Amino acid sequence: MKTNVLVIGGGVGGLTVALKLAKCGIGVTVVEQMKGNPHLYKGELVQPKTLQIFKNIGILSPVLAEGQVINNIELIDRKNSEMDLEELPKQSMSYNVLPEPFHHALMIPHETLKDLLLKEAMKYPSFQYIQPARFIGFSNGQAKVKINKEEVFIQADYYVGAEGRRSKIRDVMNLRKKEKTYDHHFLTVTFPRPSSLMEGKLISTDKTFLGLFPLPNNMVRSVYLIPKGTYKSMIAEGLTSLFQKYVDLYPSLDGYVQQIESWKQIQLMIPVQFHVDHYVKNNIALLGDSAHSVHPMAGEGMNLAIQDGDVLGELFCWMYEHNALSNDYLSLYEKVRKPRVQHILKLSHLAALAYSRPLRSLVSWRNKVMDQLTSDPVLHSKHMLNISGLGIWKETIIDRAIQTGMVSKRKEDFHLDKRHLFTEIDDYPWRYIEEGANR
Ligand SMILES: Cc1cc2nc3c(=O)[nH]c(=O)nc-3n(C[C@H](O)[C@H](O)[C@H](O)COP(=O)(O)OP(=O)(O)OC[C@H]3O[C@@H](n4cnc5c(N)ncnc54)[C@H](O)[C@@H]3O)c2cc1C
Repeated sequence: MKTNVLVIGGGVGGLTVALKLAKCGIGVTVVEQMKGNPHLYKGELVQPKTLQIFKNIGILSPVLAEGQVINNIELIDRKNSEMDLEELPKQSMSYNVLPEPFHHALMIPHETLKDLLLKEAMKYPSFQYIQPARFIGFSNGQAKVKINKEEVFIQADYYVGAEGRRSKIRDVMNLRKKEKTYDHHFLTVTFPRPSSLMEGKLISTDKTFLGLFPLPNNMVRSVYLIPKGTYKSMIAEGLTSLFQKYVDLYPSLDGYVQQIESWKQIQLMIPVQFHVDHYVKNNIALLGDSAHSVHPMAGEGMNLAIQDGDVLGELFCWMYEHNALSNDYLSLYEKVRKPRVQHILKLSHLAALAYSRPLRSLVSWRNKVMDQLTSDPVLHSKHMLNISGLGIWKETIIDRAIQTGMVSKRKEDFHLDKRHLFTEIDDYPWRYIEEGANR
């Protein structure tokens, strides 16, 4: 079997790069090992840059129609659990500080998003999707794929490893990766929500936090932090005890969280962070979780995979259009994406540390930092820009001093505008090379 580009893994990252190739009329084959579409909790928070990509690939309207817009994530500290939730001070991280039109995030069920990407790609004749089909290795430069117990060889100009955390292609490429683990795990589950719960919430104490992210159809995705190694004892304690923990943190969940019927609905999530030293080797490129895994705290993993897929897909289209099929060009993908991913990994890791021992017991310090971050207009805008994926604006020493409360907050108004966002040349620099060469 022959194709121009073989994408291994039909997750959000693999489907994005494949859709971009299909739209350019380039032969692309996706092999996905899973049978059907089993329900697994994965990323559901779509950041603004990803919405911009969806607009460019023509699926923004159906995505918005299936999602719940998130304008704000409210941070509530419950160290004083005696106090009524309404009386507690709240800080708000607002996406609305970003320039329109991508000045909000979106919650959408992961499987729905994958279906929309796949449905769109299926419209193009150069797209081929094989499922279940499992990549098992390379032989004589061809990919060996198991389809219905049969081993099939697929020859391609380029191979994309989009198989998620346990990437086989990454092993074949023999790359180095730095890994960080954490002293906490998460429980994650979706259940019905009160209709008043319309925006994101992070409710914390000195020991844990509960993240609540509303989904459409009056559902809410929850993420609850537990100390590493306590999952089994929590199951032994029973569901009623877990329900009580949720209600103690956010009383309005009473009557809703109890609709979780069994532990089978609740997934254990083990955070890990890693980053490979290179995304590209010869004619193979890695994207998404194959190349980097991010702590789930910041809701970025799915976004990084889609954003990788967008840049790599755009580069492949340019390479085929300009008959520039040199492996050297592939490194431009890594040049654009690696520093951006690195920055998000750093931010997510810092956020994770604030909820890890020993820092998590310093609740008043954490509150001070979050208060400064959300109320200093420049810090707040920088933070939202950085997590949105629309741009990078690194913090200065003065920013850090303000954040820790050593220097007082700025009072003057500040507004982000389009100058702070990545431009087309930042995203797709090879177009600039072409213009330069033609000049
Ligand atoms: C419980 C949980 C919660 C999460 N929450 C969030 C969140 O709120 N926000 C966020 O942004 N991210 C979140 N993430 C992370 C996010 O889901 C991932 O970062 C994202 O799915 C990565 O996309 P991907 O396409 O790189 O990989 P994946 O989504 O993992 O897709 C890889 C695909 O490759 C297939 N595959 C693997 N090996 C082979 C093979 N040998 N042959 C063929 N196919 C293969 C797999 O079956 C899979 O379908 C969460 C992850 C988990 C596990």
